[in-house]
This record gives sequence, structure tokens and C-alpha cells, in this order.
Amino acid sequence: MILPRGTHDILPEEAAKWHVIEKVFMDLCRTYQYGEIRTPIFEHTELFERGVGDTTDIVTKEMYTFEDKGGRSITLRPEGTASVVRAYVEHKLFGQVNQPVKLYYKGPMFRYERPQGGRQRQFNQMGLEAIGSFDPAIDTEVISLAMNFFQMLGLPNIELVINSLGDKESRQKHREALIAHFEPNIDEFCADCHTRLYKNPLRILDCKKDHDHPLIQTAPSILDFLNEESKSYFEQVKRYLEAIGISYRVDPTLVRGLDYYNHTCFEIMSVEEGFGGQMTLCGGGRYHGLVEEFGGPEAPGIGFGMGAERILIALEKAQIALPVDNMLDCYLITAQPEAELKAVELMAAFRKQRIVAEKDYMGRKLKAQLKDANRKNARFTVIIGETEINQRAYQLKDMEGGEQVEVAEEMLVHELLDRLKREERN
Ligand code: ATP
Ligand code: MG
Repeated sequence: MILPRGTHDILPEEAAKWHVIEKVFMDLCRTYQYGEIRTPIFEHTELFERGVGDTTDIVTKEMYTFEDKGGRSITLRPEGTASVVRAYVEHKLFGQVNQPVKLYYKGPMFRYERPQGGRQRQFNQMGLEAIGSFDPAIDTEVISLAMNFFQMLGLPNIELVINSLGDKESRQKHREALIAHFEPNIDEFCADCHTRLYKNPLRILDCKKDHDHPLIQTAPSILDFLNEESKSYFEQVKRYLEAIGISYRVDPTLVRGLDYYNHTCFEIMSVEEGFGGQMTLCGGGRYHGLVEEFGGPEAPGIGFGMGAERILIALEKAQIALPVDNMLDCYLITAQPEAELKAVELMAAFRKQRIVAEKDYMGRKLKAQLKDANRKNARFTVIIGETEINQRAYQLKDMEGGEQVEVAEEMLVHELLDRLKREERN
């Protein structure tokens, strides 16, 4: 039996790295005052059709949609925003005192794509949404949390690219200009772009097939169509970013996948040498109208999603070792079969005090147990033999320094805790 294409197992050694990045993200969210939301992994298909947009690649090609036994159309979530906004409306979070509503999530997403490096069919995102505020400072907060995250992981060569898609009015004018720009030569573009031309011409700029077409580079820039309000909003976001020392590049061709995006949008890439160019780690932006689409009041939102697998790839390429916790505090070695009972008792006592403890369960001889302890990086070992049991005292061996001390049985837990604590302080 093998895995379905585009999925993977995460084994313990790898999972330890996931714990690190998830903890950094969750701690940051706490610092920035975002609370966790956990939404279902599947939703009604309609949620994504309406929430992600029916001209997007996600909805037109990538969704895992099936009929359940009750005849409902169900889709495995391809992204997080639609579910978060649905929950926001369903639980009337717009009515709570605490505004804006700041939520983060993490978990698997599903897209039917051609699997390749950094592109799976089941992948994991960490993301967040701030809903209910139209303040450029919140755009800056969201971007800065993501940038801080990469900095805390120690990822070098990170680039922030931003753009503004303006408001409805600005986009309407830009849309007309885009249609006029592409219409005469639309035959040179892919079939999807033909559909996009009148439905949502902005998306032509985001086409993966045609992104090298010269007309994309010469397309009218949204920045030339921003009205005064949109322009000053964007200026303010940039000013705040500069004020907190976050550098960025403005790219007027940057548009985000989802249909509801307006004003600020951004991507954060890893531009690590040797990765064959660059890789988008994080994408996000501001959206208006989504809350209303789902039956709530008018409430603007902004958020991002970042791909955990891609972050781990970027860390690996940059040769950054994450501080994974693989410490084994103490390995209990039994010198003869009669010592087993005592070993089980001591292990239980150790673990009650959260001393990370291990023993042999494979009937290994003394020497092989020592080897096992070394392989597992045991900080201390305790050897249990007949003499030790009779004298109720054990040799506690420091596996790093080699030092060995005799400790009375009733002092063993205390002594170990004390030595481990002393180490923590160093
Ligand atoms: P791309 O242009 O790479 O397809 P996207 O615009 O579809 O990305 P978003 O929907 O913005 O991506 O998702 C945010 C982030 O989630 C991406 O920047 C990426 O890190 C990650 N991501 C998206 N799709 C996948 C996938 N199939 N496998 C792994 N990570 C993904
Ligand atoms: Mg995609």
C-alpha cells in the first residue's frame, strides 16, 4: 500500500521541526493578540465557490469535491479564509465587544494540483485574519507578524512584495483598461485567460501559463488607477512599514488568487540562492465584501496564509537547524533480569516528575543497553543491579562529563531534577 499522490507522512524526526515552527507561530499570534480558531476540514462546496471565487484556479480546477451519503456537495477546504469568515458570521463575532476580530488557524488544506517540490495535494497552512477594521495600521500589523515569524526562524533572504488593488471604483477603471489592453491579442493567451478577460481580467496577470507574455509586462498598472482614498491608504501602509523597519518592494503586477481582494496585497518569498529562483512562502491581503457575501454586516478583513512545507524546505535550503527538543534526560540500565521491576518503578517515578526517561524493552545485554543510551543521547544513566537494589543506592552517570555519583534511592528523583535544572540555567 502506498500514499495517494501529493500527500506525505510526517515521521517523528520531521514532526519535531513542525512543533518548532508551529510554536513560533502560535507564540507570535499570542504576542499580537490573535486567538486560535479551528474550523472543520470540510465545508459545503458553495462556501468556496462563493468565498474564493469561481474564476480562480482553486475553484475551477483544484477542489476536492464529493457528494456525501446524504447527497450534499462537500469540499475539503482548499484555504482558510472562507471558513474563518463563515464562522465569524455564524457566531456573530461582529457583535462581540472585542474588535477587530483577530483569529489564527493552522492545519491541512487540499488542492488537486500537479505535485512537485513545495506543491502537494494535502499541504499545511498557518494563517490569520483580522476582521472589522479598515485601518492601515492593521495591514502593517498582519504583514509584520509574518515578517517577524520568518525572522524568528532565522530565515535569510526573505523578500516582501506589496501592491494595492485599490477599491471598487479604482478597480473598475483599471478593469476597462485591462480589457482594452488584452482584447486585441487575447488569442495569444490560454483558454483560461479568454474566460478571465471579461469575468476578471486582473487574473490574467496571475496566469501561470502566460506569465512571460510581453503584454503582461506592459499591462496598465493598477497603481495608475488608484483614486485618492486608495492611494492615501496605500501610502499610509507603506509609511507604517517604513516606520517599523520593514523593507518591501512594490510590484504592480502582484495580484492575489482570490476574487475578493482589494487594497493591500502582499507576498513573502524566499529568494534563497540555489532554490532555482524564488518560492512564495506567504500570501495575503485585504478583502472587502466577503462577510456580506456570507450574510453578515459590512466588515473589511485582511489576512494571510503561509505554507508550512515550503517554510521547512526554505529552512533546509538555508541550512538552518531548528532547535528541536530531542533530549533524553535519563536512561535506566538493568544489569540483570531481576532489576526489571525496580527499573519499571523508577521510570514511573521519574516520569511523574516529567523527567524524560527511557529503558530497554528488547531484552538487550548490558553493553547493548549502554549503546542504546548513547544513541538516544541520554544525558544521564542509572545502572540497576542486585547490589544496587540491596543497598538502595545507584550510580548516576553523567554521560557528557563521564562523572559518576552514588545516590540513595529516595534522593534519585531529587538529584536528577536538581542536576537538570542546574543545566537549564547555564
Ligand atoms: P501558488 O501561486 O504557489 O500556487 P497560491 O497563490 O495558490 O500559490 P495561496 O492560495 O495564496 O497560494 O496560499 C498561500 C500559501 O500556501 C502559498 O504561498 C504557499 O506557501 C502555500 N501553498 C499554496 N498551495 C500549496 C500547495 N499545493 N502545496 C504546498 N503549499 C502550498
Ligand atoms: Mg496555487
